[in-house]
Amino acid sequence: MKTVGFVGWRGMVGSVLLDRMASEGDFTGCEPVFFSTSQVGQPGPTVGGRESAPLRDANDARALAETDIVVTCQGGDYTRSVHGALRESGWDGYWIDAASALRMNEASVIVLDPVNRRVIDEALDAGTRDFIGGNCTVSLMLMGLQGLFDRGWVEWMTCMTYQSASGAGARHMTELVRQMGELGGCYAPGRTALELERQVTARMANGALPTEHFGVPLAASLIPWIGGAMDNGQTREEWKAANEANKILGTDRFVPIDGQCVRVGAMRCHSQALTVKLTADVPLADIESAIAGANDWVEVLPNDHEATCQQLTPAAVSGHLRVPVGRVRKTTFGPDYLTCFTVGDQLLWGAAEPLRRTLLILLGRL
Ligand code: NAP
Repeated sequence: MKTVGFVGWRGMVGSVLLDRMASEGDFTGCEPVFFSTSQVGQPGPTVGGRESAPLRDANDARALAETDIVVTCQGGDYTRSVHGALRESGWDGYWIDAASALRMNEASVIVLDPVNRRVIDEALDAGTRDFIGGNCTVSLMLMGLQGLFDRGWVEWMTCMTYQSASGAGARHMTELVRQMGELGGCYAPGRTALELERQVTARMANGALPTEHFGVPLAASLIPWIGGAMDNGQTREEWKAANEANKILGTDRFVPIDGQCVRVGAMRCHSQALTVKLTADVPLADIESAIAGANDWVEVLPNDHEATCQQLTPAAVSGHLRVPVGRVRKTTFGPDYLTCFTVGDQLLWGAAEPLRRTLLILLGRL
């Protein structure tokens, strides 16, 4: 049985990964070893009904080298400090990583197997050892629109995102709820809407809200900037859309994708409004059936008020693997311009699920 070392399992992505593995019975197929950067020697988690050994040191390359596969959700700094040394020590196990540090390396593959199983299998045949989870919005966009890419119908695309607090980490989620709580205190029976708005706006302006992590209020507002700045005016999050998507798909022709990435006050679902320049005037029915048939998790919703408000929202999708695509229609720009809207849980398909499934592939169970 293969030994699998888990690093970063206490974090948000890591704990969702462990939950998914436990609920799918995945721990029966491997020998897990748990590591920590900060709690070495303390009790490991109980998984699959079994207590695990005390935590080992995640910075000890020799301990990591005893495993066949390392799965890390620890973060980019950890990857940068450990991965190179481990490889240089001669370890040739598989490295599965949630962080972006190795994503664009030539020697690594970005994993999203419902979309790019062929790319993964070819990489395995070619001896690739590093398998990296993609950016959450990119993975969710591809899970939604795989059917259009598979048929070569996307000439270029814009993606305008509405990204949740969880994409920034656990502390940001907590801060958002604290901000909401602070604003909730503005309510009092009998206050008019305008009085409430003045109270809310005043609290946002006078520093009453905790903003240590976001820097500014997110509750009752939004932040149209995610990630570092690029020289061309994009944010790094915006840069990832085209570059990661084309790498995941293994495209022959680079498909341009660009847009604006915006943080909103959702908890763990990212939403995206997409405009697609089609390569041809494909009938809407063909488009809908291509999208719906591409994988087991995408679903096309009717373009009506009821379906949209009940099923195409972060509230409806949180905690679920399904990726609904709705508001599908041709735009007024012309018959070869499509628009649609999609929502996905960014901790599941956006982070933990591709890693879990890659582990299953490497264990020969998928
Ligand atoms: P995180 O929640 O900050 O956890 C990372 C590590 O911080 C933990 O494994 C743990 O390591 C340590 N830690 C310290 N104090 C902790 C506490 N009170 N509770 C839990 N953990 C604590 O990070 P994350 O959001 O899961 O992200 C991990 C990596 O995945 C990052 O590279 C991120 O960019 C990437 N990623 C994230 C998302 C996302 O949606 N958040 C999506 C895709 C990729 P020790 O046990 O070693 O101390």
